[in-house]
Amino acid sequence: MGITFTHLLLPVPRSHTPSHAELIRLIGRLVEKEFVLPAGSTKLPRMRYDEGSILNQNAAATGCYIQLGRKAVHVTKERSFSCPPSVQDLAAVAERDFKLVWPVISLGASGLHYPLTLMPQNVDPEDVCYDIEIHWGREYIYRASELIEPFASEQCAACNASLNVPSASALFGNQLYRHCPACGAAFRPEERTALVYNPKDNTTGCPMLGGATSRFALAIECGKCWEYGAVPTKEFLGTCEEAVNCRLEPVLDGAF
Ligand SMILES: [Zn+2]
Repeated sequence: MGITFTHLLLPVPRSHTPSHAELIRLIGRLVEKEFVLPAGSTKLPRMRYDEGSILNQNAAATGCYIQLGRKAVHVTKERSFSCPPSVQDLAAVAERDFKLVWPVISLGASGLHYPLTLMPQNVDPEDVCYDIEIHWGREYIYRASELIEPFASEQCAACNASLNVPSASALFGNQLYRHCPACGAAFRPEERTALVYNPKDNTTGCPMLGGATSRFALAIECGKCWEYGAVPTKEFLGTCEEAVNCRLEPVLDGAF
């Protein structure tokens, strides 16, 4: 399988979730600052969307695809998504969990700015690949992995009922309710801590408020194309924070 890394940008506090208007502004700013290509870009035909993941073919028309969770059958559905989207485009998926994905199959062909500080050393810059993604959950996306521990308790602080959404989402895996299903108390991830590990030194975890649990995330999905020590560039982070009008905290997730 090999080691894969995902750089997450998560809201502070984790319970903060940008509005649809802020999401649209975020996508607009990512286009303006040349982190993603807009539909109609003359560079789109140069991107090899038919290579790599079969999901990437959904991005051929606009540079972006949407992945929707279909809870009942535990599978996902993908289709092309306009970039930048209109208010109506987002309103149409407001009641769903979704990921918006911009596959950058070849950094060289795309002409885009790399969003991380260090490129993979053993890969020709032309061939560097990654996805930029926006994750959106109606309930909290409860991320736990080899680098991110679960919370010590997954129970409501008021009544001890479980906050776990019973069936895992095909898109996001485990989720926690925004409101306790038994007593209705609001759950705020930032009121708990989760240990987060550095992959270079995974002996001591660093306690992080809210861990990686949020309804919104911006992700740079590196897959196997990564470099140790890379972090989101100041320009990428600043562009995203300004657009969604909140602080975003970089968190590294990975699978080994
Ligand atoms: Zn409760």
